[in-house]
Amino acid sequence: MNSPENSLSERTDHTATAANDVVALLAAELGDAVSTDAAALAAARADKSGHVAEGTPLAIVTARTIADVQATMRIAHRTGTPVVTRGAGTGLAGGAIADRGEIVLSTLAMNAILEISTDDEIAVVEPGIINADLNAVLATKGLWFAPDPASKAISTVGGNIATNAGGLLCAKYGVTREAVSGLTVVLADGSLLELGHRTVKGVTGLDFTALFIGSEGTLGVIVGATLRLRRLPTGPVATIGAYFASVEAAARAASVISSSGLRPAIMELVDHQAMDGINRYLGLEGRDGESYLLVQFDGSGAAVDSDAALAVIRSLGGEAELTEDREEAERLFRIRRSFHPAMETRGTVLIEDVCVPRSALPAMFQAISDIEVQFGVSIPTVAHAGDGNLHPNFVFDADPLAPGGVPENIWAAADELFLAALRLGGTLTGEHGVGMLKRRWLGHELGAPQLELQRQVKAVFDPQGLLNPGKVF
Ligand SMILES: Cc1cc2nc3c(=O)[nH]c(=O)nc-3n(C[C@H](O)[C@H](O)[C@H](O)COP(=O)(O)OP(=O)(O)OC[C@H]3O[C@@H](n4cnc5c(N)ncnc54)[C@H](O)[C@@H]3O)c2cc1C
Repeated sequence: MNSPENSLSERTDHTATAANDVVALLAAELGDAVSTDAAALAAARADKSGHVAEGTPLAIVTARTIADVQATMRIAHRTGTPVVTRGAGTGLAGGAIADRGEIVLSTLAMNAILEISTDDEIAVVEPGIINADLNAVLATKGLWFAPDPASKAISTVGGNIATNAGGLLCAKYGVTREAVSGLTVVLADGSLLELGHRTVKGVTGLDFTALFIGSEGTLGVIVGATLRLRRLPTGPVATIGAYFASVEAAARAASVISSSGLRPAIMELVDHQAMDGINRYLGLEGRDGESYLLVQFDGSGAAVDSDAALAVIRSLGGEAELTEDREEAERLFRIRRSFHPAMETRGTVLIEDVCVPRSALPAMFQAISDIEVQFGVSIPTVAHAGDGNLHPNFVFDADPLAPGGVPENIWAAADELFLAALRLGGTLTGEHGVGMLKRRWLGHELGAPQLELQRQVKAVFDPQGLLNPGKVF
């Protein structure tokens, strides 16, 4: 079997000689769907990870139909040209970044809702629809696509599926995987495949739908999805905002809330360094040095469950307020939502993403404190505490000579942070994916035999190594 690495080097030579021919072939078959506009090509060299490709891709194909995707892949297959599938380009792992000699295949214009079935609680959509746009339509029917990345207003459902995106609501409502029952995909040779089912249950054969969810554009192009919907939650919503003297105490409270069987829809932890930045950003005074826990319950048990959570928080030293008022809840949420803009005012930000068992959350925060001391860096951190998913942020002055602008001491601290998460029984990425940025740590988590097996699976779907080369594997 051809390994992706071998195919890559063979292909690079081929691509260098045939670049103009490839663009001409694309233009002849796809007309004005093909662009070589310099600004658009430059934009495709980056996503939101902060990493920028060294080279410039060949062309961007903005697919309007499945046939456009198939035509692109057939040309890529015939000419041995690599293809980077791109949704909205909001990824944080460098997965949608395109480099020299590559075709960018944008699914952004394939954004139709093909079907909504209230009876079966499913929707069939094209991949380019923006998460929030889909939910705005679903809400008019009392329905809801639960995956809720903080980027929902700007990221596509196809991108959410390709990264198995998470968000604030995962502990109660699951990640994207739980909300997808079938996919339509175009493979590397341009052939079309229907995966999964539209039934509630279905166990026929191997679960290729699950394999494609989170595959980051390395196995095929998602051109359609059958989504599992939920009824919009009704009833009261209870929100708690709590301040703690230490991040360990806040993490302990989050762990105890989870281990006592409570299931908040949202439980977000903001550590003291992140809070100091937010306080300055929002002009809040008197709270420096404290950590913040935001907890929200929805559904019929919201009042009882929030009282129970409040008791846990107060027993662990938290100073908390509880509200069922929408505007008051919005005020408590604003603190968490201000995290990213507050960090951006302080320098270049590398947003990391590790996940540990919920019971290990206090130990992971302790590990982050130790790493700060060891490497002389500060690592403001927020966590989706309900599912043990932490986003440690490295804030620095970008080094123009370093790859991706990230200084070496930051990578050294990140390296130690990933290993600490693995030692605690955790994982390298809870929701952002591997992309380019975490490739070098993949073997640490998977181990050599599994990594090799995964590469072989990739090669079965994509024997020439055309799809998103240099990403994940
Ligand atoms: C402010 C901000 C907040 C964020 N918050 C969250 C969060 O809470 N949770 C979270 O999980 N992520 C979050 N993200 C990261 C990002 O938004 C998600 O990873 C999102 O799912 C990416 O969607 P996209 O359409 O932008 O995909 P892109 O960035 O375009 O692509 C991401 C990956 O998916 C592949 N891909 C895209 N479309 C397809 C397709 N149709 N077929 C095959 N492969 C495809 C690409 O090749 C690439 O590997 C955040 C990003 C930002 C900027």
